[in-house]
Amino acid sequence: MEKLLNYIDGKLVQPIKGDYFENIEPAKGEAYSLIPDSDESDVNLAVAAAKRAFPIWSKMSAQRRSAILVRIANLITENLDELAQAESRDNGKPLKLARSIDIPRASSNFHFYGTAILHYASESHSMEDLALNYTLRQPIGVAGCISPWNLPLYLFSWKIAPALAAGNTVVAKPSEVTPYTAYLLSRICIEAGLPDGVLNIVHGYGPKAGASIIEHEDVPMISFTGGTATGEWIARTAAPKFKKLSLELGGKNPNIIFADCDFDDMMDTTLRSSFSNQGQICLCGSRILIERSIYNKFKTEFVKRVSKLKVGDPNDSKTNLGAVVSESHMEKVLEYVELAKEEGGTVLTGGHRVELEGEFAKGYFLAPTVIEGLPHTCRTNQEEIFGPVVTLIPFDTEEEAITMANSTKYGLASSTWTSDLKRAHRVARELHTGIAWINCWLLRDLRTPFGGVKNSGVGREGGFEALQFFTEPKNVCIKY
Ligand code: NAD
Repeated sequence: MEKLLNYIDGKLVQPIKGDYFENIEPAKGEAYSLIPDSDESDVNLAVAAAKRAFPIWSKMSAQRRSAILVRIANLITENLDELAQAESRDNGKPLKLARSIDIPRASSNFHFYGTAILHYASESHSMEDLALNYTLRQPIGVAGCISPWNLPLYLFSWKIAPALAAGNTVVAKPSEVTPYTAYLLSRICIEAGLPDGVLNIVHGYGPKAGASIIEHEDVPMISFTGGTATGEWIARTAAPKFKKLSLELGGKNPNIIFADCDFDDMMDTTLRSSFSNQGQICLCGSRILIERSIYNKFKTEFVKRVSKLKVGDPNDSKTNLGAVVSESHMEKVLEYVELAKEEGGTVLTGGHRVELEGEFAKGYFLAPTVIEGLPHTCRTNQEEIFGPVVTLIPFDTEEEAITMANSTKYGLASSTWTSDLKRAHRVARELHTGIAWINCWLLRDLRTPFGGVKNSGVGREGGFEALQFFTEPKNVCIKY
């Protein structure tokens, strides 16, 4: 079976102890490659390489850094087919999704930050005839970047690209559930001529390889995307060491649908925002709040369309939902469906595993699931399920919708549907979310701040926000 390799100091290397564990293909429920079970010793090598590379990389001109990052972006595009197939196989997502979203976005991330550094300007503050202050933004050192399994290369590169663009060197760990495209990225970086040690990719488990990065004395900044419980542990561990932290965590996003919305547009988009990537996008709307006057109309049409979604072979272009990422995740989602029933919910469609035949017989497929009849306060409506499961909740007034939308401990994103402009502005202002989409979903401009409030995270990625996170501002004050 193919063995993936760590990427340390410009070379593809085995883990020091030589241990590996299996990488499972979710659509088939079978192992198809082996992942390095790296530990502290591998992380130490990676951090040492990154430290050695830092003086060269950080002092390199922005133009030269830019050229290398843009080369990586172009190579990702040139290798679109191989990367998309690898992403779909590793994660279970439909190939067409990996081809149209994941891999193009990974390329855009490198291109965006590779060019952003050419346009970056810092501030100056003149004290009339006394002095001039200007702000130097300097790279910090070795950045630790850790990412989850749902959008593997997309989110991995969303951290690595700004960290490198800002002049830092990086030790990164992809999710052990979906490591393959990160491995392919290391080969692309070698081809692109990224200097040795600038980016190091260490594979392995979170509490072992991941924790070693978080705890390492020579990693002063951590950019993490993943679950809220992991984020909490990282914050507790990193804070006493005074590390800079960016945490992008879980969500339980509301869709708020008012009776005056453009129904057809809303319906098409709500299907996507509910079940894209099998509902495993942190931005998916999992609580659908519907104004009571159109509740039945919405329910009838939504359930009809959801029950027609095709679950199956990720390579089939007609497939809407592929496999969920792992057996344990599938079990977790099914447990939530059982919980919803215990809490008094009614499953309107789905709620079960989909058993396919032939090569996919052991795959982790779930039917897209719609549940109604639950109070907004119950566990099903408060906890992150992160699968193809949504609930329908009626509301009577705008205030009630906002109260319910804001009632969870999370605050990542929201999607509001209305034709009333004043209401759109009002609701956007009142929602406790880092992103408030109006009459759309997942419309992303990479220049905008990205992140959540409350337990959905700390800090913002995106645009210059990320370049600011990965640099330290220094005030230089010169007396006239
Ligand atoms: P996870 O927290 O289990 O793992 C994320 C990453 O952290 C993995 O690489 C894992 O190996 C690593 N890790 C785990 N324990 C660690 C530790 N002790 N020290 C260091 N690293 C550790 O999350 P997941 O299951 O991979 O991803 C799903 C979660 O990610 C969901 O909660 C989802 O909402 C969230 N997510 C958030 C965003 C966002 O932008 N806010 C985006 C995507 C996913």
